[in-house]
Amino acid sequence: MKNICVFCGSGAGTLPAYSLAARRLGALIVQRGMGLVYGGADIGLMREVAEGALKENGNVTGVIPAGLVDKEIQHRALTELLVVENMHQRKAKMADLSEAFIALPGGLGTLEEFFEVLSWAQLGLHKKPCALLNVEGYYDGLIAFLNHAVEHRFVSPAHRQLVLVEKTPEAMLDAIAAYRPPAVDLWIKRGET
Ligand code: AMP
Repeated sequence: MKNICVFCGSGAGTLPAYSLAARRLGALIVQRGMGLVYGGADIGLMREVAEGALKENGNVTGVIPAGLVDKEIQHRALTELLVVENMHQRKAKMADLSEAFIALPGGLGTLEEFFEVLSWAQLGLHKKPCALLNVEGYYDGLIAFLNHAVEHRFVSPAHRQLVLVEKTPEAMLDAIAAYRPPAVDLWIKRGET
C-alpha cells in the first residue's frame, strides 16, 4: 500500500485526544512505510495529522481547492501541495492517489468525504477499505445510526460490513493491512437491502 487518505476536521474539537490521535496516525502511517494524502490545510486536525507524518520525514500530499487556499491556510511544508479547481476534483484526486480511507473525528466536510468513498465502495467502484477512527467514542452515534439503517433495510448488512471501525491508530492500520474486500457481489439489487 502506497498512500493512505485521511479525512478529518478543519477544527480540533473539544478533546486533546482528537489531536493526539491525528498526530499518532500521521506518524504511524509513515513508520509503516506509507505516505499521507489529506486536504492540504494547516488548521485543526488536518494540521495535526500532517505534522505527525512530517515529523517522521514522511511523504505528505495535500490536495486543496484554489478557493480554500486562504480560508483553510495551505500548509507550506508539505512534500507536495496540489491545488485543484473545486471540491469534486479534490475528492477525486485524493481517492486516485490512495489505497485506503480513514476518517478521524470531523464535521460536515469529513462526513461528506467519508460517505462519498463509502458509497463508491457500495457501488463496486473501488475495493479500498473505508474506516472510521472512533476516538473516544466520537462516532458512536453515527455507528448506531448505520445499524439503525440496516435494521430498517435501507442499508444491506453486506454494505454495512464495508465500514471498518477501530479505536486507536495502531489497531486501525493493523485492520487496514489485514483487510480483504468482501467477496460478495456488492452491486445494489432492487428490493434486496
Ligand atoms: P470539516 O469536517 O467540516 O471540518 O471539513 C474538513 C475538510 O473537508 C475541510 O478541508 C473542508 O474544506 C472539506 N470539505 C467540506 N466539504 C467538502 C466537500 N463537499 N468536498 C470536499 N471537501 C469538503
